[in-house]
Amino acid sequence: MDDANPASSILIIEDDPDTIHLLSTILMPLASILFAKDGETGVRLAEQHQPDVIVLDQQMPGQSGQETCRILQANPATRECSIVFVTAHNRPGDEARAFELGARDFVSKPFSPVVVTARVRNQLLLKQQSDALREMANIDGLTGAFNRRYADHQLEHEIRRHQRQGLSLGVVLVDVDHFKAYNDHYGHQAGDDSLRAVAQALMASARRPGEFVARYGGEEFVVVLPHSDPDDMDRFGWRIIETVRALAIPHDQSPEYGQVTISAGLVAAVPGDFGVRDFLEASDQALYDAKQAGRNTYRTASLEVT
Ligand code: GH3
Ligand code: MG
Ligand code: MG
Ligand code: MG
Repeated sequence: MDDANPASSILIIEDDPDTIHLLSTILMPLASILFAKDGETGVRLAEQHQPDVIVLDQQMPGQSGQETCRILQANPATRECSIVFVTAHNRPGDEARAFELGARDFVSKPFSPVVVTARVRNQLLLKQQSDALREMANIDGLTGAFNRRYADHQLEHEIRRHQRQGLSLGVVLVDVDHFKAYNDHYGHQAGDDSLRAVAQALMASARRPGEFVARYGGEEFVVVLPHSDPDDMDRFGWRIIETVRALAIPHDQSPEYGQVTISAGLVAAVPGDFGVRDFLEASDQALYDAKQAGRNTYRTASLEVT
């Protein structure tokens, strides 16, 4: 990492203006810089911006560096930030305590700019690598959509969030029509290409914040649409059927349409007592209905207390 990565950011939490100035100047070439003059403000900025690295002063009036570190580590929104402690009075045991609290590195004042820069750069590099690994672990290699692991985890999270907020969540299951025949006729490689094209079309249709597409099985996808009600589902169902039809991928073995099509089952509801299984079962039933209705179409289901 030779140049500043504009996507990286460093938060400096430090009460002394001269030290803030010095640290900002030497770290500026590595990333964009935020700063806070006390622990409370630092925690708030960290939650908002989720910086890659936090350079944290140990001695501050009010909330100490150690207490700030503990709070940052306990909060899922800030737990992934790498914390580098900076301290003036290195009492015996401080360093060990900082690592116990989850800090990744430790620098004593007065510090050498070269050493601080090198240590922060190392943390930025490690953070980028772990972000990349985490992302790879969530992505389906064939299509670039999220994978089932991510979908299950994120769907659980969204259901809890919508439960708390009392808002309606949309879940969509999509299945490619007559896809076995497509593979048999055109070959597995062409099948893979078509799956990629369908995934891209779905991803292009689910771009609002929080929306995502995951490959849920062989030729099956799940789409999650936060803050969506049954009317939104009707619009979305229609849109994805049209978007895939517009790809116009020839499929001679599709008896009805002569091209690659999808069927979809959609459900939207305020989660209430419903869990992941209820949403998936309802959309699976709606998908089955869409297949029964002749494919290349969608059906919606409702979730009701039974
Ligand atoms: P339906 O319209 O009822 O959904 O029929 P279908 O043929 O699509 O359904 P079926 O479940 O019988 O077959 C799914 C096929 O999807 C089986 C397999 O050939 C194909 N498939 C699953 N995963 C992949 C993949 O990763 N790559 C390719 N090329 N094909 C796949
Ligand atoms: Mg201080
Ligand atoms: Mg299938
Ligand atoms: Mg199918």
